Amino acid sequence: MTPPEVEILTDLDSPTIVELTEEDEEPDATHIVSQADLIHSQITGQAIQALCGKWWVPKRNPDDYPMCQGCLEIFTRS
Ligand SMILES: [Zn+2]
Repeated sequence: MTPPEVEILTDLDSPTIVELTEEDEEPDATHIVSQADLIHSQITGQAIQALCGKWWVPKRNPDDYPMCQGCLEIFTRS
């Protein structure tokens, strides 16, 4: 038995492709936030912290998005 040959490619001429990792692209969801925070956000447009811990700017049409499972879990447990 001979060990499998390992080929190390050192192609210095090829450009390095750096994959840009932008902000975490999470699927849109409706998070559960407190009423006071929601009003605050609607006035200021700032992000508020949802039950699941995610900072989030509430959507104008929350019905268009699925419920955040993390928020739901915490909400139904408490
Ligand atoms: Zn959430």
